[in-house]
Amino acid sequence: MTRLFVSDLHLDASAPDATRQFEEFLRSHAAHADALYILGDLFEVWVGDDDPDAEKARVVRALHELTSSGVACFVIHGNRDFLLGRQFCDRSGCRLLQDPVVIELNGERVLVTHGDALCTDDHSYQELRSSVRTVDWQRRFLSLPFEIRDRFANKARAGSKAHTTRTAPEIQDVNPQAVATAFRVTRVRRMIHGHTHRPGIHDLEIDGEPAQRIVLGAWYEEGSYLAYENGRYELRTLPR
Ligand code: MN
Repeated sequence: MTRLFVSDLHLDASAPDATRQFEEFLRSHAAHADALYILGDLFEVWVGDDDPDAEKARVVRALHELTSSGVACFVIHGNRDFLLGRQFCDRSGCRLLQDPVVIELNGERVLVTHGDALCTDDHSYQELRSSVRTVDWQRRFLSLPFEIRDRFANKARAGSKAHTTRTAPEIQDVNPQAVATAFRVTRVRRMIHGHTHRPGIHDLEIDGEPAQRIVLGAWYEEGSYLAYENGRYELRTLPR
């Protein structure tokens, strides 16, 4: 059984190389897997399934090619693409999962999440997150014309960039207590997440028991994925 995990591809028309590499990844690596999990921020921005962007349409088509060949593809919302909706799923054949969600890998329960909810030290981000993740906010936002949503997203991205620059790196990482709580509440011993762009496999101890937190890498400079194969987890990079 092979399952692959990616996140934080941040695909965007301004960086076509990453899109090409992801298409290639789907045709080569993912095509031979049993399932692909995309743990958020597949796209740099997604303000609604009616986006006419041609690069995004390419990605959706490539995902459809994969899912129609019989490989299951699961998607979790990231902070950039939490508006991926039903039409995206219909067109790509992907299935949306709740964030967080517990999946089973060879009999082991594993927590998978985008990871932004674990960054509880970043108070202003969490405040923003809790307002834009309500059904009400999203219904109102999606009722605006596409151009207005797009303009809003560009402003939000600029604001987020400025916030990232002036916020200390440790504030933008996961909070250890939030991680411990997630382990306790879900009663798992392993979690997989992205968002922080700090790939690594961290062995921890939660209430005297071993636990593991696996962090996926971003795709800005190279491809990056986690493979679960023959009972082993391995982070791998793909040169661009
Ligand atoms: Mn993110």
